[in-house]
Order: sequence, then structure tokens, then C-alpha cells
Amino acid sequence: MTLIETVSKGRSQLENKLRNLLAKPVFLIEMDVFSLPCGCNGTTINTRGIQLDDLEVFEERMISELENASLGLEIEPSFLFARLIPGTAEIASLNSRLLCERCYADFAKGSGKRPRPDIYILKFNRRA
Ligand SMILES: [Zn+2]
Repeated sequence: MTLIETVSKGRSQLENKLRNLLAKPVFLIEMDVFSLPCGCNGTTINTRGIQLDDLEVFEERMISELENASLGLEIEPSFLFARLIPGTAEIASLNSRLLCERCYADFAKGSGKRPRPDIYILKFNRRA
């Protein structure tokens, strides 16, 4: 499979799994794989139809599905988070990110699930 076929398959599989899990129409309108100049890499999955409540109620299953999707793209799922549309309970994207040293240090300084109002952290593996 080419890289883009892998991304395409991962997007549709995750969409189906989240629809089954949440029992409602969830749309993964775009799945992107990115590499930033700072050294961070990962995937961003833009979503429609997921609310903050869904993450809180189904947190363990959501984490597990996101881990699988991330591993499918050969991205170690060490940092998983959701981005919210500011001022709403609407999830804009689900993300798996391999943090560079500097961004890791920034996130490691914070604590709790909401270091910023637009971020909900699902999983953050602290480094030794
Ligand atoms: Zn970075």
C-alpha cells in the first residue's frame, strides 16, 4: 500500500468505528499527516459531529481507537489530544503527535486535561 492509501484506509476505518461507538453520524472530513519545522510529526483528523461529552463518556474507547488509527500510520501514540472549536463543546479535530523536545517541554509544564481552553488531552506519556 502507498502512504496515501494507508491514510485513506485509516480515515474510513476510524470513521466507521467512531460511528459505531458513539451511535450517531460522525464525519472525519479530513485526515492529514504532518511534519512541522520544529520537529513535531503526527496526524490531525478533522471531525464533525463529536462533542466534548462523547470524549468524556467514551474516553477509554476513544483513546483505544485513536491509538489504533495512529499505529496504522506508524505514529507511536504517545500524545493524543482533541482540539475544540473555541467557546463551544464541539470537537474540531483529534490528533496524535510525536512531540519534539521543545514542544514536549512546553506540554510537560502543564497539568490536567485542559492546559488551554481549546485543548483536551486524552493521553500524554511523560518521558523518563
Ligand atoms: Zn515541536
